Formats: sequence, C-alpha cells, structure tokens
Amino acid sequence: MKVLKFGGTSVGSAQRIKDVAALVAKRGKNIIVLSAMSGTTNSLVEISDYLYKKNITGAKETINALEAKYMRTIDELFATEEHRRAATEAIKERFDFIRSFNKPIFTLFEEKEILAQGELISTALMFNYMKESGINVVMLPALEFMRTDKNAEPDSQYIQDKLGTLLNESPDADIYLTQGYICRNAYGEIDNLQRGGSDYTASLIGAAVKADEIEIWTDIDGMHNNDPRFVEGTKPVSELHFEEAAELAYFGAKILHPTCVLPAKLNNIPVRLLNTMQPDAHGTLIYNSRPDHSIKAVAAKDNITAIKIKSSRMLLAYGFMRKVFEIFETHRTSIDMVATSEVGVSVTIDNERNLHSIIEDLKKFGTVSVDHDMVIICVVGDLEWQNRGFEAEVINALKDIPVRMISYGGSNYNISLLVRKSDKVEALNLLSKRLFK
Ligand code: ASP
Ligand code: MG
Repeated sequence: MKVLKFGGTSVGSAQRIKDVAALVAKRGKNIIVLSAMSGTTNSLVEISDYLYKKNITGAKETINALEAKYMRTIDELFATEEHRRAATEAIKERFDFIRSFNKPIFTLFEEKEILAQGELISTALMFNYMKESGINVVMLPALEFMRTDKNAEPDSQYIQDKLGTLLNESPDADIYLTQGYICRNAYGEIDNLQRGGSDYTASLIGAAVKADEIEIWTDIDGMHNNDPRFVEGTKPVSELHFEEAAELAYFGAKILHPTCVLPAKLNNIPVRLLNTMQPDAHGTLIYNSRPDHSIKAVAAKDNITAIKIKSSRMLLAYGFMRKVFEIFETHRTSIDMVATSEVGVSVTIDNERNLHSIIEDLKKFGTVSVDHDMVIICVVGDLEWQNRGFEAEVINALKDIPVRMISYGGSNYNISLLVRKSDKVEALNLLSKRLFK
C-alpha cells in the first residue's frame, strides 16, 4: 500500500478533482491524502482575522464568496442529481459551521476549528465524486486518528492503532481517502500540523501503515536543482538522500514541507515527488540512497538577518557561546547559520520580531553589528569532507560576489553561504553555470 498526497493546486478546480480521481483509480488500493483546494486555507485565515477583530460583516462577506466558489465547483463536478445533492448538503453543513462563530469570544481554539474546514470540504467533494464515478472509496476521518501529544508532537502509537482499526473495518475498499493537515491535540481539541502540513500527514500515515512509498503530487516535476523562478534551464533531481531532501526542504525548495522527511527517513520509506500534470514523468525519488559524491541542488532562503558579536574578552573564554545562545533562546528565536572566530561569532536568524531586545542583551557581551536583507544560499549534495574539490567549485563560482558568512561541516550534505539579497539571483545563476553545466 502507498500513500498519495495531493496538494491544493492538484485539487484546485472541478477539472483537477476529476483528474486526480482518474489518476488514483488506476494506481490501486492506496491511501489518498488531500489538502484544501488552493486559496481556501488563506481565506479561512482571513475569516478568522475578521472574527478576531469582531468585524462580523467582513467575515460574512469572505464566507459568502468562498461558499459561492464551492457551489460553482459542485455545479461543474457532478453529473447526477443524487451526488450533486449529497455534496451540496455536505458543503452547506461546513459553511453553517463556519457561520456559527459569530459570538463575542474568538480565540485560537475557534480559529483552529475554522482552519480545519478546508480539508473537510475538499475530501467531501472528492468522496462524492468518486462515489459518482463508481469507485469504492472509504473515508478515514483524520480527526479520528491523527493526534498530537502534550508536546504537540505526533502521537505515533495512537495514530498507528487508530488507523489500523479504521482500515480493518473496511478491508474491501478500493481507495481510502483522508484529510491532510488537520488533527486533534492531546486534549481532543481540533488542531493542525501547521501551514503546509499535509505533506507531514502523508508521511505520518506512511510510517503508521509501513507504506511501500509516499507519493507527494504537486504541479512541478520534482525537486529542481535550482530555483526555476530565478534560473533558466533548471532540471529535476532524479534521486536524493533523505538528508539532502531535508536540507533542501528547509532551505527554501517549497515543493516539500521540511517536517515530512523525518517520519519517512526513520521508517525507511521512499518519498517520490510527482507531477499531476505529467503523471508519467520520473519526478524526484527521496530515499536512503548511496553516497555518489555529487552536488545535487542549490536553494536560497530569504529574509535573513546576520548578527555579529565581537568580544575581546572572548579569547579563550569558556561559556561565552552558551551566554550568546541563551539570549536567542530567551527571546524564542532560532539560529540558522553560525560562524566563529577567536574574537567573535556571527549567527543568522530568519525572524526579526525580537531583534531589538536580542541586540540589547547581546551588548552586555561585546560589540554588536547587524546586516539586514541577507540570503542564505545553500548547496546540497553528498559533500562528505573526504570528497575533494567541491568547496573550491562553490567558492570559485561565487568569486565575484561578496560573501558575508560560510558554513560547512555541520552536516555532510550542505554548504551554506550568506550573501546580500541584491546578489541572490546572480549567485544562484553562477552556481548553476558552474555546478550543473
Ligand atoms: N491547507 C493547508 C495549508 O494551506 C495544508 C496544506 O495544504 O498542506 O497550509
Ligand atoms: Mg504544500
């Protein structure tokens, strides 16, 4: 059994829903995970914003517009009155629920209930459409098996047990269908796995059922060796190691959510990135691949701030690093890159929310300087230190670009360079030219 996950654009219109149904019907008895139709979760966030601000009219207008969009989708999707009616009723019920949040109190708890509706709607549409097409589909309600524990981490044992029970109840199904992204927390309240979390759902299900493979279907033919928005002629990478994929997902390749890799890696389940528009293309296969001493891809992460702390007293001072890192911890800001010398340390962060207080605190330990609008360029591949020459290739490619920081050796899979935002596109292009000629 495989787990097949389809993102928002893959189910973004009536036609796309039909295409996905046809595609999965051909691929055998699998578990299908759906995102909300594209744009829906953003609309639900907007509705919640209005409700937080007690702007009931704003919320109503957005709800009406979203509902009207779904009614048009239903019109296009169904050929028979019976299934059109069933789908309409299911969707109306969801919108009645969304409209019921017009009371004075609106908190995170209510917001999460609203955010969960997108996936409930997309799966209801798909379920009824598959029924109409004669597919023996069974719904596995995510809110009955997907759960997080008291640390907000997935409760793997619970997921495995509950999912096992649900699957055993319907052994004859052709296809199982479920919602990505949504879950319950340790207290049974509705929650979610963070924005973009449907990939994580797929991976957690894959791990729970020991799937043969996890397929992530989007509208691009796999992970590319550079960012196609800025570099011409990028190519899909055909194979990646789990660790390489994790670095790329984290450092900006939007195609796969970073959390998705870990459950697959721990259970050694291959992840394949595929394209709904070109279902026969090879895409990218992520697995426990053998080292091949090659550079696979380049990615960039925007909105980075570099902070340098220089201290003459740091020389040979133990405990200095701890004090510096503790300041970031106190201000709940995570650090991406680190470079050190005997007299100073530079770190990067991707969130300036607490920058002011961080700088104030750091000044107790040394002279602080900040560079805004920086970009991390991340080169990923089998870069084990015994391999020769790849550092030289990377540095040579960027010889005409000012580099603020370099970090290598933290893992065997990545070399990161910090450059100015204004140099990003040129840096990406120079690297592609040199590394993937
Ligand atoms: N619908 C959710 C989002 O837009 C989850 C997902 O698509 O993965 O973030
Ligand atoms: Mg996504």
